[in-house]
Amino acid sequence: MRCVIVDTSRSPFAKLRPVPLNSVKLRDEFWAPRIKQLREVTLPSQYDILEDTGRLGNFRVAATGEGEIRWRIADDSDVYKWLEAASLTLGYEPDERLEELVSSVVRDIAAAQDEDGYLFTLYYNRREERWRDLERMHELYCAGHLFQAAVAHRRATGSGELLRVAVRLADHIASVFGPGKREGAPGHPEIEMALVELYRETGRREYVELSRFFIDCRGRGLVGGSECLIDHKPFRELDGITGHAVRALYLNCGATDLYMETGDKSLLETLERLWRSMARRRMYVTGGVGSRHVCESFGDDYELPNVRAYAETCAAVANVMWNWRMLLALGEARFADVMELAMYNGALSGISLDGRRYFYCNPLADRGRSRRQPWFSCACCPTNIVRMLASVPGYMYSTSGDGLWVHLYAESEAAIDVAGREVRVAQRTRYPWDGDVELTLELEGSLEFSLFVRIPGWCDGAEVLVNGREVEAEAAPGSYFELRRVWRSGDRVEIRLPMTVRLVVSHPHVLCNACRAAITRGPMVYCLEHVDNPEFDVWDVALLSDEPLEAEYVPGLLGGVVVVRGWGVVMDGEAWGDSLYLPLSRAPKAARRVRVTAIPYYAWANREPGPMITWVVLARSGLLR
Ligand SMILES: [Zn+2]
Repeated sequence: MRCVIVDTSRSPFAKLRPVPLNSVKLRDEFWAPRIKQLREVTLPSQYDILEDTGRLGNFRVAATGEGEIRWRIADDSDVYKWLEAASLTLGYEPDERLEELVSSVVRDIAAAQDEDGYLFTLYYNRREERWRDLERMHELYCAGHLFQAAVAHRRATGSGELLRVAVRLADHIASVFGPGKREGAPGHPEIEMALVELYRETGRREYVELSRFFIDCRGRGLVGGSECLIDHKPFRELDGITGHAVRALYLNCGATDLYMETGDKSLLETLERLWRSMARRRMYVTGGVGSRHVCESFGDDYELPNVRAYAETCAAVANVMWNWRMLLALGEARFADVMELAMYNGALSGISLDGRRYFYCNPLADRGRSRRQPWFSCACCPTNIVRMLASVPGYMYSTSGDGLWVHLYAESEAAIDVAGREVRVAQRTRYPWDGDVELTLELEGSLEFSLFVRIPGWCDGAEVLVNGREVEAEAAPGSYFELRRVWRSGDRVEIRLPMTVRLVVSHPHVLCNACRAAITRGPMVYCLEHVDNPEFDVWDVALLSDEPLEAEYVPGLLGGVVVVRGWGVVMDGEAWGDSLYLPLSRAPKAARRVRVTAIPYYAWANREPGPMITWVVLARSGLLR
């Protein structure tokens, strides 16, 4: 079985080939326990909620005609995303209980399909409503999620049961939409990437053409013409990333998939433009995106409010998905950097440490009112974060004609096909808490290939050693370091990525971050939370940037994290009385020197509520004199 997420094995314009999830065995203390919890806690608890809220029942209603559909928005897709995640985990870790749940959900879905292939439970008995409102109803969006679930189910279990349902629905859609038939675009992109993946699994080229058709139909006012739905301009004319963040990034995923199959240069040029617009001007330091609550959308350049950040969990997951595709297409480390940033920070904050609660929005500063919820009426985020967690083993490696690529670091073992030969790679590391990584290769005989090891963009002074001897070439931050040689069993590569605590500042046009810094270490972004700093309000503190910042691993805290400690000064809040504004001459001075403790951003809001802040005011010790 080859359980892969985005199968570029035969994509003519993809630089990298995927390594199946079931070829990589994570043994680390960061991801492996989360994936175990995903299987044992999160997926079963989500299944219960899908049942309790009627989302699964809707399929049975559609199959039997008995009972009422209980519909909110895009409910079918929540079932499909759960199924995709559950299937992926089964692809690398058998679990009898989960297998039974998956099988019963697949049966319910198959039974709900209309004889003409249509499948969308809300309209099971309302034929006249079908495909009428592409702008607001999510029929094509849900279909896309079904295709992704079906492909994952096939690749993970070998069963074609759900794939047959997907193909019948895709053929039905192709009979309705296309050149010379009905023109239209999905109000919520998603089906574009799913159709390409369905092609990769079935070989049916017409699905690529249908994907292209949906992308080409955008910007013609067929779904209302709004910028929010990215329908204000044709895709290839977009000059900046804009509109609903999840929709924009799913659309980009589809366009990247389409590029990898067709080599359409105009798509790639657009994607490059959109990537620079996002990563250089419109993305949070956490890898989260979406600055505005209105339309859940991207903002203008440098519009990145902290308290009012939207930064939907789904948008960070979509950021991972898009950058993974760009990485597969081009093999450039900047995409892996954004992917890793969003994985460890803006996306992971979307789920609680106990695996049962979720954030929809991920603000970067808060007064303690934002708390993760067990579910939402629009439940896109909980079922999206599980897809990402289930996919982690598949994001670690790729191959190419030249050799083997190492994207992410985690204690693990992998067996990877390199030029038709099996190469086993053991990673020894405490990443993400420590930057020392040791790779040991095992293979029969010897084989010449390049090993491309990623030097993260945050890492200055990286060193690479082969069999204990330092390699002379510069290991530049934000690149893949190529080691080409004849490899033999037992060859050992050490990668030393110094993880110093860094203060990151933002472009001056991000006004709310003026004179502030974010604390980072390795791939992690940090925040201050009240519970670790009970002596003062973390919104009042200024961090002393000329005093040392120390990192310390605290095993019992938040599942085991490296905290960062430093010194700060605190304003005397009471000296302000009830003044909102004061003349500078009468403004209270910083009064007290305090110890400051920061925790990884993803772990905030897992203890008692209180103020939190990511961008901290900077000060120098001289302030106190
Ligand atoms: Zn969401």
